[in-house]
Amino acid sequence: MKLEALAPEAPPVGSPFDFRVGKSDKVDETEIQSALKSGDWGFFHSFTTGSAVDGPGIRLVAWLAGCQFRCVFCHNPDTWKVTNGLPVRVERALEVVKQYRNSLRQMKGGLTISGGEPLLQYRFLSRLFPAVKNLGVHTTLETNGYFGERLTDEDLASIDLVMLGLKAIEPELHRRLTGMDNKPAHEFARRLAARKHPVWIRFVVVPGWTDNIEEMDRMAEFAAGLGNVERVDVLPFHQMGRFKWEKLGMEYKMQNAQPPSREIVDQAVARFRAVGLDVV
Ligand code: SF4
Repeated sequence: MKLEALAPEAPPVGSPFDFRVGKSDKVDETEIQSALKSGDWGFFHSFTTGSAVDGPGIRLVAWLAGCQFRCVFCHNPDTWKVTNGLPVRVERALEVVKQYRNSLRQMKGGLTISGGEPLLQYRFLSRLFPAVKNLGVHTTLETNGYFGERLTDEDLASIDLVMLGLKAIEPELHRRLTGMDNKPAHEFARRLAARKHPVWIRFVVVPGWTDNIEEMDRMAEFAAGLGNVERVDVLPFHQMGRFKWEKLGMEYKMQNAQPPSREIVDQAVARFRAVGLDVV
């Protein structure tokens, strides 16, 4: 099947908490590969308007499909496969942003691309972000940072803010938590710091994994050492994604975990504030 046959009139409206799988399963593999290579198409899990938590102001958020991490706490495991997303042409995505341009500017917001991990589709971003920025709309990339080196300096110039989701500092903990090495994300963080690029760091307090003072202190020290971190979002683990793991028939290590207590979350906030960072 060709991508064109699936292309919707608009990106699939909905919340990242909607369960979506197999939207592009029937598309020929060569079509998928060539779309990823050209950046002509993005694979969207969902698309929301009016978000107040995914960057400054009120935002349009595109949640792209595909992620190379396997976080044990992930609340959107249905975003892991690129082919779970619906293909949307870059021109169509831009038209949608244009429709919202005036209100986004009035509400001091913009476009945020999140996921999944958007940098699996970095060529699509390389085309969409500069065009959106040309409209005078603020741009934000939310990423785990692993493929940060795929972005050229020119690409970075079209991204006003990077929201970097750092999962853990201790390397072995990070590997067990995500299945991947954390060095590339740290290198990306340092590259952004050297460019004085605005960054918000997102840290999830995961019970039994990152809810210990030692790890929080290391994360706070790393973030403060960068010098370009404008804000830290401390996010408590939640169970809103449990049903997705069940539906996908995957083993969910956090099955019986409770969200962290208020005291633990407050402790994390305090550790970041203690090194001079703004925390929300
Ligand atoms: S990086 Fe995000 S989308 Fe990917 S597995 Fe981790 S939590 Fe899920």
